[in-house]
Amino acid sequence: MKDIEIAQQVTPAPITEIAAKAGLTADQIDQYGSAKAKLKLPLPVKDTQRKLILVTSINPTPAGEGKSTVTIGLGDALTSIGKSTMIALREPSLGPVMGMKGGATGGGYSQVIPMEDINLHFTGDMHALTAANNTLAALIDNHIQQGNALGIDQRRIQWKRALDINDRALRHTIIGLGGPTSGVPREDGFDITVASELMAILCLSENIADLKQRINRIVIGYTHDRQPVTVADLQVGGAIALLLKDALRPNLVQTLAHTPALVHGGPFANIAHGCNSVLATQAGLNLADYTVTEAGFGADLGGEKFMDINVPAVGQAPNAVVIVATIRALKMHGGMALADLGNEDVAALEKGAANLGHHIKAMQQYGVPVVVAINQFTADTPAEIQAVKDYCAGLGVTAVLADVWGQGGAGATELAHAVVKLADQPSDFKPLYQNDDDVETKVMAIVKKTYGGANVEYSGKAKRQLRTFAKYGWDKLPVCMAKTQYSLSDNPKLLGAPTGFTINVREFVPKLGAGFIVALTGNVLTMPGLPKHPAALDMDISDDGKISGLF
Ligand code: ADP
Repeated sequence: MKDIEIAQQVTPAPITEIAAKAGLTADQIDQYGSAKAKLKLPLPVKDTQRKLILVTSINPTPAGEGKSTVTIGLGDALTSIGKSTMIALREPSLGPVMGMKGGATGGGYSQVIPMEDINLHFTGDMHALTAANNTLAALIDNHIQQGNALGIDQRRIQWKRALDINDRALRHTIIGLGGPTSGVPREDGFDITVASELMAILCLSENIADLKQRINRIVIGYTHDRQPVTVADLQVGGAIALLLKDALRPNLVQTLAHTPALVHGGPFANIAHGCNSVLATQAGLNLADYTVTEAGFGADLGGEKFMDINVPAVGQAPNAVVIVATIRALKMHGGMALADLGNEDVAALEKGAANLGHHIKAMQQYGVPVVVAINQFTADTPAEIQAVKDYCAGLGVTAVLADVWGQGGAGATELAHAVVKLADQPSDFKPLYQNDDDVETKVMAIVKKTYGGANVEYSGKAKRQLRTFAKYGWDKLPVCMAKTQYSLSDNPKLLGAPTGFTINVREFVPKLGAGFIVALTGNVLTMPGLPKHPAALDMDISDDGKISGLF
């Protein structure tokens, strides 16, 4: 059965009931229909010892990993063994929903619902972000049109327009054509909304005051004499912040088994920081004994960024890290072709397990305990499952088989017990680098310690930028790496656990509002394109409003 068919069989419980289950009173939420709600700010505070569980994974392959599916199944399993639990996930972007087959609401019997709503317009957060982003763009161009009192150099505007669709034709644009009444012509371009700085800001802000301060710090471009121009200089921080007043509030939904889930904020992990909002994670920690959250793509991207960018903002490190792996994906990392994955191949599996081993060590270096979840696919054989368990045992790590896709929470009881046991262990979190380190030291720490690479090569532009950033004092910010998700290196074709490679940094983007410096590596794009067979081709809505083809 397809994910959407399974989801459509379950009637969501009234969201007020889910809120009550999470310890929220009716006046602490605003309902968006019967099955969705937004939390009111400030968040409720509870003063007890709570556990944060981070779910991350090996480098993704076209074979699929199922991180969201495991996150949701684990949340249901923790609930079923009697633990009060909140799941915190990112909101889907319409880019991947319409493009490469993939929503972000889990799959099989481990899903959050109403999945159609969550995967489409949900509570409008993405649209609010897109509108706020483009309002700022319009205000910048209007400032130039109206005399450019700030002396903005239109060739050095950093703020781009945004759209939450994969639209490669908008990557590089020319705007302002049509004569003096239609603006000042200049080069521009679009990023996908989930890669925008406003998305990162929304996800890292603690409250409206913090949101406004961060927006005011955004560097939109430079003057003719190369001085940075911020939103505060334009005096429009208040206007942009007010457009996000509701988008800032976490969204409450539920799993198929009615476990409360907060789905809020959706930065991609390859080109942005890849974690749901800090407010959603903090709400989970305030309301439930266990909060299970997910960081995007592999532990080299979302996992690293969760630890080095998100943890300081959340104010708590994970008490346990779950690394999701599938037999299928490990066989691909071991050199097997996608079409052959149905066949047993322990040798390819053992070779590809090096990718898993690498991520285990990368997460352990933060001083947090790690468990591996083998997300079970029907074609997995007992010999293959045993091989992964043996490999992990050799590294001193437990690997647990989880059939969350086929059974929901019931398929992850053992995983839930393992996580509870692990989270009770004392842990000693230490970040990968210190913010006082300069940018090059931070990038080298990530490349060597997390990716397993040997060197970093900077383009001429990147080197010049580093000198400028040091002058402005921006070099003390954390680094957000933009890198392909498919490989530990910046070459998407290099699978497994390569060593000795060089990471090529072609450009930096200072994101002072978000509070980090983005390092663009390899050929990673901030506006993806649609594939040859976009998922949109398989979607439909019946005359009576029933949606099909949404995975
Ligand atoms: P990720 O979070 O790693 O991107 P998801 O959890 O969103 O992955 O899952 C991607 C797709 O893979 C979903 O359509 C889901 O139904 C499917 N999937 C996940 N786990 C399994 C499994 N064990 N067996 C079959 N399909 C699965």
